[in-house]
Amino acid sequence: MGKLNVQKLRYLSRDEFRVLTALEMGSKNHEVVPTTLISHIAGLKHGGARKLLIELTRHKLVAYDNSKYSGYRLTYPGYDYLALKTMANRNSLSSVGNQIGVGKESDIYIVANEADEQMALKLQRLGRVSFRKVKEKRDYLGKATSASWLYLSRLAATKEFAYMKALYDHDFPVPKPIDFNRHCVIMQLVNAYPLTQVQEVGDVPRLYNDLMNLIVRLASYGLIHGDFNEFNLLIDDEQRVTLIDFPQMVSTSHENAEYYFDRDVTCIREFFARKFHYEAAYPRFRDHTTRAVNLDIDLSASGFSRADDELLQQAFAARAAAPSGDDDHQDDDDDDDDDEELDPTQLGSASDEDDDEDDEASADKTRTASSSSSAAA
Ligand code: ADP
Ligand code: MG
Repeated sequence: MGKLNVQKLRYLSRDEFRVLTALEMGSKNHEVVPTTLISHIAGLKHGGARKLLIELTRHKLVAYDNSKYSGYRLTYPGYDYLALKTMANRNSLSSVGNQIGVGKESDIYIVANEADEQMALKLQRLGRVSFRKVKEKRDYLGKATSASWLYLSRLAATKEFAYMKALYDHDFPVPKPIDFNRHCVIMQLVNAYPLTQVQEVGDVPRLYNDLMNLIVRLASYGLIHGDFNEFNLLIDDEQRVTLIDFPQMVSTSHENAEYYFDRDVTCIREFFARKFHYEAAYPRFRDHTTRAVNLDIDLSASGFSRADDELLQQAFAARAAAPSGDDDHQDDDDDDDDDEELDPTQLGSASDEDDDEDDEASADKTRTASSSSSAAA
């Protein structure tokens, strides 16, 4: 892992922060929040809030939207800001470093706390793929709006944290969950690489067995990972496995459980056949229906409701069913409208604080900002 390139949260004035928070509150029942409502919630004079909103727009923390009526909406950078600020206030993190992963619908950064312990931060970016692509997709996904994507991202992070915690508490090989807020999860930074990048494996049959046993053990706890593949399995130097990425997990009592179970098993079988020319016995769903513990039931008490889960599964299903063929090329779209990603300059202190880490930070921006479209100011 690269050295931690420390960046601090941009300084926002108290009133700017108030306006940002007011916009978030207004978003609960407005797709686009009218300026008067923002002013009202923030308890500021109309003109005052308007000026601050223009400033926040300049920093891309909010976006002006007059597609239906005139108002503002929160952007991913704005939502990132609120989540990071909240977690920084409770000392879960104090700095954000390099980006280590760009998933289809997430960004992963190295972060650190006051004690300089490094951790991984995962920011959910639901809607990124589907929204940035062809217009038909947008239509296909119907009424999904940027506000509902933020909401779905929050659900995904809430679910991920709840599952990671339950699995960790039952000694499954998953990162230790540390904190979550809104659409962000902080977890242990695992010193290992995705199986897809691992060039050599000492004991192929052992790894194959470990992975199949993991699928079976999950099922014995009432769970199916649902995306059990070479990208979500981290392997360390000693060939130990860490499983990551939980927003799409399903219960073994789901009506399509067998389909999901088989799909996970098939992913591993096909990967081993392709990469190691290795084939061996594999588990069948019907042989693994005894439950040691039903984690699925425990989880329903974790604040993540069935209704939330259904909403999330619907969003995943809509995405899977959306016209395909271009999901893997993220850069050929000229629709910048929803292209709002964590811009590391938003976390920097460049324009707000005098800080001798600035120069070092900017030197690294080009590298860490690979996914952001433009640098603020
Ligand atoms: P996505 O939902 O976008 O697939 P993942 O949770 O699978 O996101 O993470 C994407 C990538 O980030 C992983 O393939 C891995 O390389 C890296 N990563 C994620 N979590 C960690 C972690 N805790 N420690 C180290 N690397 C991680
Ligand atoms: Mg993944």
